[in-house]
Amino acid sequence: MKNNKKRVLSGIRATGSLHLGNYLGAVKGMLELQNDDDYETLYMVADVHTLTTPYDVEELRRYRREVVIDYVAAGLDPDKSVLFLQADVPEHTELAFYFSSVVSMARMQHLPTFKDKVKQHPEHATMALLNYPVLMAADILVYQAGFVPVGIDQEPHLEIAREIARKMNAQYGTDFPEPQRFATKGEYVPSLTGEGKMSKSVTGSYINLTDDLETIKKRLAGVPTDAGKGSEVPSEGGVASLLQLVSLFQGDEARQQYEQAYTSEGLRYQDLKESLAQAIYEELQPIQEKRAELAADSEKLDEIIATGAEKAQAIARETVTEVKERMGLL
Ligand code: ADP
Repeated sequence: MKNNKKRVLSGIRATGSLHLGNYLGAVKGMLELQNDDDYETLYMVADVHTLTTPYDVEELRRYRREVVIDYVAAGLDPDKSVLFLQADVPEHTELAFYFSSVVSMARMQHLPTFKDKVKQHPEHATMALLNYPVLMAADILVYQAGFVPVGIDQEPHLEIAREIARKMNAQYGTDFPEPQRFATKGEYVPSLTGEGKMSKSVTGSYINLTDDLETIKKRLAGVPTDAGKGSEVPSEGGVASLLQLVSLFQGDEARQQYEQAYTSEGLRYQDLKESLAQAIYEELQPIQEKRAELAADSEKLDEIIATGAEKAQAIARETVTEVKERMGLL
């Protein structure tokens, strides 16, 4: 079963439609590795992880399929990558339980990502939330994956996965790799509000992959700016967010020109926003066209999801069997 390719695993939770942060920080990296022959790529929808924060049952049922549509629309190809739903491969949750026996409660409770989520939803500080990183480690290691294309905010979770790999290898003689993050230029896409990162959970912070040109313009119009002139270009706030997006969609040269204008004759934000909106839409338009095609063909989607589950499970089963043997369960 083993081949010489390096394995890659990534996933996105099924909490809504994808935004530019997900696209630039995660999906672009997934695409790059999918299209490199040295790698074998598996990409899932982290639907089980969606249960770690409050959610609506019918929405989850819908979004877990929608994220697959988003993946394919963005260029993930079921002939090149294994595309699947996490819940279809129960070996992930099984392995997560075995892994939880080598992780201390204190380590999990002190994780900043856990504390942040508890602050957001104090009434929902569940065992599932505490176990989030353990399940994520199982997602990755059940495929012995060494590379994980995700945004920079996921680094603490990858550190846990590496710790678990080391502990399992030391205590039970397994041969898990220590997974590394695969970073993209858009590993941190700032919020349109000018504060923090672009995120589904912050209204006004994001541009969705499904937004049309008018919506993109409207969203950019809301980014807070300043007088457009000064001795130093702001390194945070709305202006910094805009310049970062210019870099990502129009290149560093375009950004430098705006920066130069800022420190000399002055920068006209209306022009910047107009041409940035066009550049973003140009990249999104083909994705939106492809999305509409697959959204109208639910049989094809079913087939992609079923084939993906079968391929993923064949690999996952081998790992779980080996772990059970080594832990005395077989
Ligand atoms: P959100 O914070 O909007 O709920 P998720 O937590 O579901 O997004 O993230 C899914 C993937 O997208 C992860 O790999 C994450 O690192 C990446 N990601 C999310 N937001 C950003 C961002 N603003 N910049 C870069 N990557 C991001």
